[in-house]
Amino acid sequence: MRIGLFGGTFDPVHCGHLAVVDKVQVACGLERVWLIPAARSPLRDAPQASAGHRLAMCRLATADDSHLDVYATELERPAPSFTADTLRELTACHPNDVFTLLLGVDTLAEMPAWRDTGTILELSDIAAIARPGYANQLPEALVAKHPGAAKRVKVLGVPASDVSASDVRARLAAKESIEGLVPSTVAAYIQRHGLYGATKGP
Ligand code: ATP
Repeated sequence: MRIGLFGGTFDPVHCGHLAVVDKVQVACGLERVWLIPAARSPLRDAPQASAGHRLAMCRLATADDSHLDVYATELERPAPSFTADTLRELTACHPNDVFTLLLGVDTLAEMPAWRDTGTILELSDIAAIARPGYANQLPEALVAKHPGAAKRVKVLGVPASDVSASDVRARLAAKESIEGLVPSTVAAYIQRHGLYGATKGP
């Protein structure tokens, strides 16, 4: 089976993430996509919401899509979460499946600084999707360090959406509407738990 792996902090999961899944699923012929929430990404600040809340929101966002699942392996390991470790685990447990890593081009640009980038490129294909404000191309630094990346990475020209988790958090902190930026079930969860400075509601 061709399986897409979409890692992130998902703090919170938003409609931009779901748009990435839609675009890459079609473009790469993926049968399933697994969202993999990170305990903490090595190159980023700690997430604002707890692992439990982020996992719950990912589950709500994927509940209506039978091709989309949540795989919680990185939340079960000590932080930080390394993608290479996740891929080693998955390829050992699912030897007959073929994995494609889904990324925004902003994250692709960070790949030369990741741990074991060479292993990641051995174990999976990579589909990177355009993101407003970022160059839509294979980063030169990645190819210079890992020439095999040219064959493994597909940069998809179509932008998914301009939603970001930081914008969602900033709007909530400013008591602004996030309508249309996150699935309605996720918005209700954020309000119910008063996450990101949202006024706690019913
Ligand atoms: P933040 O704003 O806090 O940095 P984020 O919106 O980038 O968060 P993450 O959970 O960090 O969300 O992202 C997970 C993955 O999703 C990354 O590879 C990121 O590039 C990608 N991604 C997130 N939003 C978009 C978007 N609107 N278009 C394309 N890729 C996206």
